[in-house]
Amino acid sequence: MLAYIFLAALMSGASGAPAPEYNKLTAEERRVIIEKGTERPWSGKYVNHKADGVYVCKRCDAPLFQSGDKFDSHCGWPSFDDALEGAIKKQPDADGVRTEIVCSNCGAHLGHVFHGEEFTPKNTRHCVNSISLNFVRRQETDETEKMEAAVFAGGCFWGVEYYMEKAKGVHSVVAGFTGGRKESPSYEEVCKGVTGHLEAVKVEYDPGKTTYEELARLFFEIHDPTQVNGQGPDIGEQYRSVIFYKNEEQKKIALKLIQILKEKGYNVSTELRPASVFYEAEEYHQDYYEKKGVKPYCHGYTKRF
Ligand SMILES: [Zn+2]
Repeated sequence: MLAYIFLAALMSGASGAPAPEYNKLTAEERRVIIEKGTERPWSGKYVNHKADGVYVCKRCDAPLFQSGDKFDSHCGWPSFDDALEGAIKKQPDADGVRTEIVCSNCGAHLGHVFHGEEFTPKNTRHCVNSISLNFVRRQETDETEKMEAAVFAGGCFWGVEYYMEKAKGVHSVVAGFTGGRKESPSYEEVCKGVTGHLEAVKVEYDPGKTTYEELARLFFEIHDPTQVNGQGPDIGEQYRSVIFYKNEEQKKIALKLIQILKEKGYNVSTELRPASVFYEAEEYHQDYYEKKGVKPYCHGYTKRF
């Protein structure tokens, strides 16, 4: 009995034994993880994160959720329909309504769990603050090595990204700037049309599930390749139609598609240029229409092939 009490005291740190070492938290991390705050919707880095791996506790590194259970809930926070066994604890929230979820190991506040919303067959949504998590990628090298990339400029990158992200075999789409001279340009600089950069998207795709040709065809069908001075209502050099090819094979395919379109009577203005450095745009430009929950004003699908 004495031994038991001693052990219990030791584990709680009451006897002067050191408390468990947790990761140091920033003020914003503390606000959510310790003080049970909530990050702004769509502000977290894992909302649209799709890589394969495990999400672990920011504070104690315990594995909590796996990417296979993550789904798109359009609520603005990472959502999982399941947690790793025993990883999380559920408890009534202080608001008396919701059910709070915390890390079983260290008690870090993660978010809340909801049932009956019918998002997935499991009918459960663990709504988690990105800031409460870290991500550990599975087989990092294997996964990224097998992906290939394509770079397209077809006017406002919000619209091109919107449609590319929905294409089969696409792993990720990043909105950014390329083709110009200025290093790390800002959106404002590119908008002024003085950097030489174009608004563009970088599409990472799995060549086992789609092809460059399929994506290039889609590109020609989600913007108007005959407009010369910009795209739709967006006029200026930075909105021109350009395919930035990464190798001779991509160039050949792009040329072939332009030839097909010309034979169909389209006066294609799309330029081909070798790919150069691609600068990611600011975070608020990523998944712009998804975040707004609206359809693009600048792009639409038109069958051309
Ligand atoms: Zn923890």
